[in-house]
Amino acid sequence: MKQVMLVILLGVFFLNGTAQDASLPRVKILATGGTIAGAGVSSERAGYKAGALPIDELLSAVPQIHKIARVTGEQIASVGSQDISIAIWQKLAVRINEIFAKDEADAVVITHGTDTQEETSYFLDLTVHYKNAVVITGSMRPATGISADGPKNLYDAVTVAANASSKGRGVLVCFNEGIFDGRDVVKISTTKLNAFASPNTGALGQVYDGKVEYYSTSMREVNVGSPFSVKLDSKIPRVDIVYMYADAPGSLIDCAVSDGAKGLVIAGVGNGNFDKAYTEAIKAAVKKGVIVCRASRCVSGRVVLEDEINDKELGTIVSDDLNPQKARVLLMLGLMNTSDKAKLQEYYFKY
Ligand code: ASP
Repeated sequence: MKQVMLVILLGVFFLNGTAQDASLPRVKILATGGTIAGAGVSSERAGYKAGALPIDELLSAVPQIHKIARVTGEQIASVGSQDISIAIWQKLAVRINEIFAKDEADAVVITHGTDTQEETSYFLDLTVHYKNAVVITGSMRPATGISADGPKNLYDAVTVAANASSKGRGVLVCFNEGIFDGRDVVKISTTKLNAFASPNTGALGQVYDGKVEYYSTSMREVNVGSPFSVKLDSKIPRVDIVYMYADAPGSLIDCAVSDGAKGLVIAGVGNGNFDKAYTEAIKAAVKKGVIVCRASRCVSGRVVLEDEINDKELGTIVSDDLNPQKARVLLMLGLMNTSDKAKLQEYYFKY
């Protein structure tokens, strides 16, 4: 009788996924909130509150995860990613570096809202100094919705993180079966499940049916070679983004500068262009020592130095192929190291 009880107990133990095979890789899940942790009033309605569910509940929706990795969870924040702050980025970077330094896990998965996932992925790409896999995921539908995509995305992200070929690729975003470079990935849809793409470079690979396939490699230097580091109390310079549109007034730029911006990214039109009013305001900003980087509001392409705009004369630099929100992340971190324009421009071409 005792033996039967033991078998039943062990069965329950394994089915719950709490027993972990010591040969499996150790994956730490850092939860920050987002729709993947969102709870709605009913499964039929779209309205929901992002970030409401804790990590344990997300994990309990995918017991299969325990067959591919020894998974542990940690709650870093519980916010919709529209409320992700620089302080949360610092907390994540510090904690991930610590996890790998102390050998607490082989890989990290971050659950995160989709709205600012592309900014967090690039920030961490630049500030995590280990080759271990770091994979970010989220969902477009809340956990309580019909056909919620969170459990599948979480399962896929852990599959990617646990796979040896994901090492040394910098921070990855795994979404809707695509694997994207954290530097290049962009949110491309407000509500569709296929919400991410890398418009300039394409996906690195895909995960399907528990199998990971890579088709390309990022050419940008990250991880161990990155010159960017943050601590919890690091003071990160303020960088603002100013959007360009037909007949935009230069006072938007004056305003950001007088409010304390140390750097500005202009979301320019086309090849990072702007009107005469912006040109005059940028001249004044540069005179005050503000670093001004030209990016583009176009969905893809590079911003080219010295094309329609004489950057040397105006004192501007360019974001290369980073969109404005990613160009801001690099300028914030770059300004912690230097205010030398040539060096900052080099960062844009290298990272
Ligand atoms: N607003 C949500 C967030 O970014 C959207 C999502 O997660 O899909 O947290």
